[in-house]
Amino acid sequence: MSAKPERWAIVGGGFLGMTLAHRLAQHGKKVTLFEGASQLGGLASAWNLGEVVWDRHYHVTLLSDRYLRSLLGELGLEKEMQWVETRTGFYTEGKLYSMSNTLEFLQFPLLGIWDKFRLGATIFYASKINNWRELEKIPVGDWLRRWSGTRTFENIWLPLLRAKLSENYKKASAAFIWAIIARMYAARRTGLKKEMFGYVPGGYARILERFGEMLVKEKACIRLRHVAKKVEWVPGGGVCVAFENGHKEVFDRIVLTMAAPYLARICPQLSEDERSRLMGIQYQGIICASLLLKRPLAGFYVTNITDSWVPFTAIIEMSALVDRTHFGGNTLVYLPKYVTPDDPAFSLTDQEVEETFVQALLRMYPHVYRSDLLCFRLSRVRYVLPISTLHYSERLPPMATSIPGVHIVNSAHIVNGTLNVNETIQLAEKALGRLLSLPTRAVSVPLSKEDKSNEAYR
Ligand SMILES: Cc1cc2nc3c(=O)[nH]c(=O)nc-3n(C[C@H](O)[C@H](O)[C@H](O)COP(=O)(O)OP(=O)(O)OC[C@H]3O[C@@H](n4cnc5c(N)ncnc54)[C@H](O)[C@@H]3O)c2cc1C
Repeated sequence: MSAKPERWAIVGGGFLGMTLAHRLAQHGKKVTLFEGASQLGGLASAWNLGEVVWDRHYHVTLLSDRYLRSLLGELGLEKEMQWVETRTGFYTEGKLYSMSNTLEFLQFPLLGIWDKFRLGATIFYASKINNWRELEKIPVGDWLRRWSGTRTFENIWLPLLRAKLSENYKKASAAFIWAIIARMYAARRTGLKKEMFGYVPGGYARILERFGEMLVKEKACIRLRHVAKKVEWVPGGGVCVAFENGHKEVFDRIVLTMAAPYLARICPQLSEDERSRLMGIQYQGIICASLLLKRPLAGFYVTNITDSWVPFTAIIEMSALVDRTHFGGNTLVYLPKYVTPDDPAFSLTDQEVEETFVQALLRMYPHVYRSDLLCFRLSRVRYVLPISTLHYSERLPPMATSIPGVHIVNSAHIVNGTLNVNETIQLAEKALGRLLSLPTRAVSVPLSKEDKSNEAYR
C-alpha cells in the first residue's frame, strides 16, 4: 500500500505562497493554499478602475528578473512580454527634469559638476560591492553622506530616503540603498545603459489567472476568504489552523507567508525569542492611489520628487510603459505615499486623500485639469516593506519555528535584495529545498540546531 501524501497548508496567497504551493504540489504533496482575501495575488493583485482592470500597485519586470521570467515561462506568458525603454523624471524646486541618460544627468542644474561626479561615483561604487553584510553595520545616511558629500546628501539622497522610508530612514542600514542600486544597475542593458522595463499584456490579472489555473491542474486546493486566526500544534496530531469563518483543519505541516506582526499574533505557541524577533522587524506601509486620466502627464515611468510640499512620494505613469490601449486610450498613474504603519494618514478618508493628492498633481502639471480625472481609487497596506535595519540578517526569526510542523517564510527573509516579485519567487525556490529535506511527518520531533538556522535559505 502506498503511503498517504503529506498534507501541507500554505497560508497567504501572494506570490510567495503560490510559488511554494506550486512547487510542493509538483513534489507530490497534498497542498491547500489559504488566502484571506477574495482573490489571489496579495500585493500584486489586480483591481478595477472603472472599466480598466490593472494592478492595484504598480508593477514592472526587469530583464534581469530571471526567477520571475522563468515562472512566466512555465505559465506560457514569457514570450508575450513587452519590453520598453523608459524615461525617468525628477521633480525638484517646483520644476520637472528628465534624468534618463548621462547627458541629462550632466545638464541637471541643481548640482555642481563635483557633486555629480561624487553622486555618480557613489552609485558606481555601490554597484560593485559584493559584501553587503559589511553595509549592514553602517546607517544608510552616514554611508551616503560619506561617499556623496553633505550637499548631495541633503539635496538628493535625503528627500529620496524620506520618500521611501519617512523618518524610518534613520533606522536603515547602507544595505538598503545598496540593494536598490544593485537592482537598478541590473535593469540597464550592458553597453546601451538603457532602462528596459517589461510587462505582460493584461498585467498581473492575467498572470494570476494563469497561475491559479496551473495550481488547480496540479491538484492544489485553493481556499479564498480564509483568514487564519490561530495556528497550533496538536500533540501527536499535526498542526491545526483555525480561520475567522469558523473553519478548522489539521495538516502535517504549515508554511505561513504573511507579514511578521500578523504571524506573531496567530501563533500563541511561539517562544518569547521568536515573538520578539518577529515584532522587531520594522515595516513601511503604503497608501497608493490609482488615477485614470484623459491626458498624459510627462511620459516618465517614474518621477522622483524632492519637494516636501508634495503629499505623495513619487509619480508612476504606468501608461508611459504599458500601451494606452490597455487603459481604454487613457493614462494610468499611481501616486504612492510610503508611511510608517502607525501614520495618521491611514485614518484619512478616501475623499480627503483624493482632494490633497489631486490638488498637488494639478499644481505640478498645469496642462492637466480636474475634468481630466476619470477615476480615483486608493489602496492602503500597513505592512509592506520590511526595512533592512542595522545588523538585520542576524536578527531575523528562523524559518523553522520551535512549534513542530510550523514554518515561516515571508518577505522579511529577503536579506540581500529589495522587495519585488523576482526576489519573492527566488526566496520560495530556496526555502523549498529546505522544506523538502525535512523528515517526513516529524511533527513531534524537536528541531535540530541546523533546522533552526536560516543559513540554507540565503
Ligand atoms: C506599491 C508597490 C509597488 C511594487 N512594485 C513592484 C514592481 O514594480 N515589481 C516587482 O517585481 N514587485 C513590486 N512590488 C512588490 C511585490 O508586490 C511583492 O514583492 C510581492 O507581491 C510579495 O508577495 P508575498 O507573497 O511575499 O506577499 P503578499 O503579496 O503580501 O502576500 C501575502 C498574502 O497573505 C494574505 N494574508 C495575510 N494575513 C493572512 C491571514 N491571517 N490568513 C490568510 N491570508 C492572509 C494576504 O491577504 C496576502 O494575499 C511592489 C509592491 C508594492 C506594494
